[in-house]
Amino acid sequence: MHEVDMTRCLLLSMQEWSQQHAPRQPSVQRVHLQVGTFTCVEPDQLVFTWRAAVKGSWLDGSELSIESIPLVGRCLCCNSTYAPRVDHGYRSPCCDHPMEEIVSGRELKIRSVDYSLSEPRLTPQSVEI
Ligand SMILES: [Zn+2]
Repeated sequence: MHEVDMTRCLLLSMQEWSQQHAPRQPSVQRVHLQVGTFTCVEPDQLVFTWRAAVKGSWLDGSELSIESIPLVGRCLCCNSTYAPRVDHGYRSPCCDHPMEEIVSGRELKIRSVDYSLSEPRLTPQSVEI
């Protein structure tokens, strides 16, 4: 299943990200994703898979926010960009060329993370008077 692999990748990225904050553990509320419409990822399915995967882990309770990035192609004939349509075979509307270059629509990336860091344990300090 596509979404399970995607989730596994995301979890690895999050794990690496969290190590930047070591020894503190970030408490994550929300992960903002950009997902291209050409990645064949079903956003609802990804959210569902995520929730199941993070249960019981340090990411338990975090949610995904998915921003859809539309598919944009570039026609190498006339260098114009266009929104490819399935019913048009993804061909460019200007000169009917097959889609040769994808400008956007293949993204799967973490744009930002909403999180908080717990305060480090306060050690009692002696105060000099
Ligand atoms: Zn063209």
